[in-house]
Amino acid sequence: MSFIVAIDGPAGAGKGTITKQVGEKLGLMNIDTGAMFRCVTLGMLQEKIGIEEEKEIQKLLEKIEIDMKENGTFFLNGEEKKKKIREDEVNNSVSPVSLIPIVRKKLLELQRKIAEGKDVIMEGRDIGTVVFPNANVKIYLDATPEERAKRRVKQNQEKGIVCSYEEVLQGIMERDKRDSSREIAPLKQADDAIYIDSSDMTIQEVVTKIITLIEEKKRKGEC
Ligand code: C5P
Repeated sequence: MSFIVAIDGPAGAGKGTITKQVGEKLGLMNIDTGAMFRCVTLGMLQEKIGIEEEKEIQKLLEKIEIDMKENGTFFLNGEEKKKKIREDEVNNSVSPVSLIPIVRKKLLELQRKIAEGKDVIMEGRDIGTVVFPNANVKIYLDATPEERAKRRVKQNQEKGIVCSYEEVLQGIMERDKRDSSREIAPLKQADDAIYIDSSDMTIQEVVTKIITLIEEKKRKGEC
């Protein structure tokens, strides 16, 4: 039987870094579901398929191969796309693509299949509510939009990307709105998820808190 930790939350809350570190420390396979939506988005961009073109999208979904390695590298149809899926072109299109029902259906199946029989930590928007409603531990990781924008600007600066705080904040707020107001699998906290506001916490503090929560739950026999 597999052991599942679900980490949900908005863009820029630190899910990626934190999930990776908790996974490494506890020996859980790390699955980034946002990267899967990014792979489909990149596939559509490469083949110049618009979001309205349902038949073309269906054909793409039938043949697309998404593969991942433990180190977070993603492969689209056998080609390594770790950087490409984080570029602006994908950033700007991924949220509308994630609204397409056939895309969500395909990725839901894939997410469940990848986790079959394994101990995993899976991050996304709907993991604790839709993908694994019976996950052993559910965390909802949040931070204020302002703090998330600050972190994103800093990350971009480190990568040499010039951007304005106002623009990033606006982008984050728009993405939050789209992700939480959509009809299928909206971003929302599961009733039984533990809420963590990381606005005033360091990455290390959040990692330690999540590991402590998981270990406590295990000790009490709650998961
Ligand atoms: O986590 P990341 O920012 O890479 O996710 C990119 C986008 O993919 C999100 O803004 C959201 O629209 C979508 N997504 C989703 N459901 C998930 C993971 C990501 O809709 N489980």
